[in-house]
Amino acid sequence: MDSSDDEGEEYLFKVVIIGDSAVGKSNLLSRYARNEFNMHSKATIGVEFQTQSMEIDGKEVKAQIWDTAGQERFRAVTSAYYRGAVGALIVYDISRGTTFDSVSRWLEELNTHSETTVARMLVGNKCDLDNIRGVSVEDGKKLAEKNGLFFMETSALDSTNVKMAFEMVIKEIYNNVS
Ligand code: GDP
Ligand code: MG
Repeated sequence: MDSSDDEGEEYLFKVVIIGDSAVGKSNLLSRYARNEFNMHSKATIGVEFQTQSMEIDGKEVKAQIWDTAGQERFRAVTSAYYRGAVGALIVYDISRGTTFDSVSRWLEELNTHSETTVARMLVGNKCDLDNIRGVSVEDGKKLAEKNGLFFMETSALDSTNVKMAFEMVIKEIYNNVS
């Protein structure tokens, strides 16, 4: 947070996106920050973070949203990645049950690395693939409830709930700190 600006308080929150490889983390971020989607995105190509602003209570709130840029393939998401994060999206792919099974491991890793309250949302991405669904909405909701997480199904492909998911997390962070 930086309050040196004449215009009053400024907020800058770090948010991380975690989850197994190929669940759509990079595309969720590019959809939210640039309204872009890439059908053939390469796991290793990605930016470190993107900054996106929204207004809450008449104040400009900036979220610096971090992407793993492929580190997760080697089970080596570094502690630097988590450092200072106050929000997290834990993403799985609704068409691949194994990515849902990994959620608890990602939550443990997040808990291990977080020093403060972290606003957390469980995100079932690729809800456009309903015809080959491998994880029910009900199971997603249950896991979220059990762990005290927000829950939403999204599609980076057709934009369903993407903005909503990020903005809910950012609003919750704002509530946590103000
Ligand atoms: P990451 O490894 O978690 O960052 O996943 P990517 O964002 O690179 O996406 C992996 C693959 O899934 C790419 O081929 C994307 O085009 C595809 N993908 C990402 N999001 C969606 C989605 O919402 N629906 C569908 N059908 N495909 C998606
Ligand atoms: Mg990626």
